[in-house]
Amino acid sequence: MKHDSVVIVGAGIIGLNVALVLAKKGHGQHTTIIAEHLPGDTSIDYTSPWAGANFSAISASDENALRWDKLGYAHLLDLAAKDGRNAYVKETSSIEYWDEAPSAAKIDSMARYLKDVSLKFQITSSPSGIQCVSIFLYFAQFSEIPTQELPEGVAFGVKFTTITVNAPSHIQYLLSKLTEEYGVRVIRRKIPKVSSAFLSQHTKVVFNCTGNAARHLEGVNDSKCFPTRGQILLTRAPHISQNTMRHGKDYETYVIPRPYSNGNVILGGFMQKGISTADTFGDETRSILSRTKAMLPALDSPDTEILIALSGLRPSREGGARVEREDASLKDRGHRGVIVHNYGAGGTGFQAGYGMAVEAVSLVSQELHGLAPQASL
Ligand SMILES: Cc1cc2nc3c(=O)[nH]c(=O)nc-3n(C[C@H](O)[C@H](O)[C@H](O)COP(=O)(O)OP(=O)(O)OC[C@H]3O[C@@H](n4cnc5c(N)ncnc54)[C@H](O)[C@@H]3O)c2cc1C
Repeated sequence: MKHDSVVIVGAGIIGLNVALVLAKKGHGQHTTIIAEHLPGDTSIDYTSPWAGANFSAISASDENALRWDKLGYAHLLDLAAKDGRNAYVKETSSIEYWDEAPSAAKIDSMARYLKDVSLKFQITSSPSGIQCVSIFLYFAQFSEIPTQELPEGVAFGVKFTTITVNAPSHIQYLLSKLTEEYGVRVIRRKIPKVSSAFLSQHTKVVFNCTGNAARHLEGVNDSKCFPTRGQILLTRAPHISQNTMRHGKDYETYVIPRPYSNGNVILGGFMQKGISTADTFGDETRSILSRTKAMLPALDSPDTEILIALSGLRPSREGGARVEREDASLKDRGHRGVIVHNYGAGGTGFQAGYGMAVEAVSLVSQELHGLAPQASL
């Protein structure tokens, strides 16, 4: 019964992050996740397993996106340091290129918190002619790449330390942690309308984390939602350890080493607004290969093996993600409840999801206050 108090609809990275924030506040045993698809499943209607995934400047430049990114970066950096191997997240050196310079707001914001750690070597000679090599660990904010070092057609580039995430393994890690460590209950079920998530009179809050389904789910029907299809290649390229991205006017090219995998690397990609097919296409595979090899010539090697082409649908939304509280009157149940919408993360659910979750949970702090915190299991 106490598990009915808070219900999260959706077990993608967005719903799982909400559950994590609730569990850390002592509400694991008040929480139920209801989802049609769970970590370990694959479906075109379940985006999270298909993500690259990394932290990048792919997100929008509005205040919400910048704030969620910042919170997400701090969370993932901390997780990588404390439990990276189990959580499948890792600090990775990264280069990002833009064909057209990004907005000053975006660069200013990133420059304030992204870190860059690199080794510097210095060779000095003593008066007697003996050469000495000194190695410094050099900490700095992210650094701009000098214009003369940029590839042809690139207007701007930065180097920094990013976080790479093994998406399918990371969501399985989160589910295990939530159920085994914090006592969160999980029910596999497809609900016909958002109000069905009010499981009983005891349900105070429902988090709607349904990704692309928010467009058609009864009680939500958000016509601003649309899918943005991406095709990627899962490859084995153990010699690649550098995250590299190029943001073009109408394309995204990226190489993401998948952490704690069998030397796997994700190559991408495409951002096709409004396209929702799960099919993959040979000409797109060829385009990804030619663009990624041009960007990172080390890929053009007999050690690079293409394993499979995959397709996923980013849950995009005009105007950006919706993190919003709605007070609902549940006439058929004779009581009132609160729905917190948290969907529309587009191409940023892994990097911004924790920040979105922190804010979504803060919208119901009063309702949560009425629930006695539980000790973890
Ligand atoms: C090719 C590709 C590359 C990407 N790369 C990155 C990256 O590098 N970095 C990054 O941050 N992001 C990346 N993304 C984006 C990221 O994957 C998404 O933002 C994220 O997965 C969205 O998560 P979600 O939880 O909102 O949706 P989903 O993962 O789709 O989860 C939705 C959940 O809701 C459930 N659900 C829906 N309707 C119902 C219902 N009626 N009843 C019960 N359950 C329901 C589903 O079963 C599922 O559990 C990428 C995406 C793609 C496709």
